[in-house]
Amino acid sequence: MTSPTLDTQTIRIIAGEDAHLARNYSPLPVVIARGEGVWVTDVEGKRYLDLLSAYSALNFGHLHPAIVAAATEQLGRLTLTSRAFHNDRLGAFASALADLCKKDLVLPMNTGAEAVETGIKVARAWAYRVKGVKTDAANIVVAHGNFHGRTTTIVGFSDDESARDGFGPFAPGFRSVPFGDAAAIDAAIDENTAAVLIEPIQGEAGVILPPKGYLQAVRDICTDRGVLFIADEIQSGLGRVGETFACDRDGVVPDVYLLGKALGGGIMPLSAVVANSDILGVIKPGEHGSTFGGNPLAAAVGERVVEMLATGEFQDRSRALGEHLSERLEALVGDGVTAVRVAGLWAGIDIDPARGTGREIAERLVHRGVLVKDTHGQTIRIAPPLVIRGTEIDWAIEQLKLVLEAE
Ligand SMILES: *Cc1c(COP(=O)(O)O)cnc(C)c1O
Repeated sequence: MTSPTLDTQTIRIIAGEDAHLARNYSPLPVVIARGEGVWVTDVEGKRYLDLLSAYSALNFGHLHPAIVAAATEQLGRLTLTSRAFHNDRLGAFASALADLCKKDLVLPMNTGAEAVETGIKVARAWAYRVKGVKTDAANIVVAHGNFHGRTTTIVGFSDDESARDGFGPFAPGFRSVPFGDAAAIDAAIDENTAAVLIEPIQGEAGVILPPKGYLQAVRDICTDRGVLFIADEIQSGLGRVGETFACDRDGVVPDVYLLGKALGGGIMPLSAVVANSDILGVIKPGEHGSTFGGNPLAAAVGERVVEMLATGEFQDRSRALGEHLSERLEALVGDGVTAVRVAGLWAGIDIDPARGTGREIAERLVHRGVLVKDTHGQTIRIAPPLVIRGTEIDWAIEQLKLVLEAE
């Protein structure tokens, strides 16, 4: 499972990306041609264990047969209508997702960033029309280290320089406070605050878990101060952390869920904002939309995904295997690993700088047939498909041990 190291340019040529593809990513040196379950195969036929799952968009693995069947059946009937007309799939998807979230309205979009943008618009409209905030005065409290997507409004309230630098001017109306500090949220709220928008666990930041009691405190503060609690569960939700939502780990119910990634079953982009009608009902016809949002193909896929989550089977797997993963990773602390943070089948692993950077470890793992992603220098992130087996986790950890020992 080892191959000679190819330089970035050679890999770009093999992938056919050297001529015309913009360089907004620096992919790891592997060119994937096929996928099935937790495994992918490169153009030369070598197999790799996919421990990234497209940042949790592949929670059910590559080409899950039940999701492929739903998509294939729908591909033969109807793919796109636009919302200018009704289609016969969207209502059933919305009902199923509302049930899963125990809310009563669903607004479908495509990408995660669009769900976040929609959540911001809903919160502002709610502030003006329900709470009575003066026109254009609304603010939203966010957390340091956040990742909510790549649009200009969203990167404007990021504190990651590489996401922001060169892309201003940015939209006003956001206040950022330290993640995990509920008192700081309370202090940032004023009479014009529409919402608190946070990831219950910060994924891109390196799988950062807030201190115990934080989410409950945020819930209580939002209730007391008359502010919406918007949980960006785009990466943390839909089974990743051993529950349907990361908020469930603390028994907390936000006012608004932002969902994406795994909702599209690893097949297509599908996102949604889910809330009760006293909030989401503020949006009237003509005020917001998307050409592809709620298309029948996405709805068929999304309904199947929700059906699969409704059994609880994937959440149970994630919880049980997450404990297994956690034990294996904890055993590495002090031996090439300085810290691990695990929630279900989701882990941030801080690499001892003496053993290499996160990127170097990720590159060495590629050569051992394991795909992970580095973040913020010294951290690698893993988020295997929830269909992974315990033995596959053990094998991956063995490979990690080996690359930590290598120079
Ligand atoms: C990935 C992600 C987004 C953005 O989703 P896209 O589909 O890439 O636009 C937003 N929020 C969180 C927490 C994410 O992980």
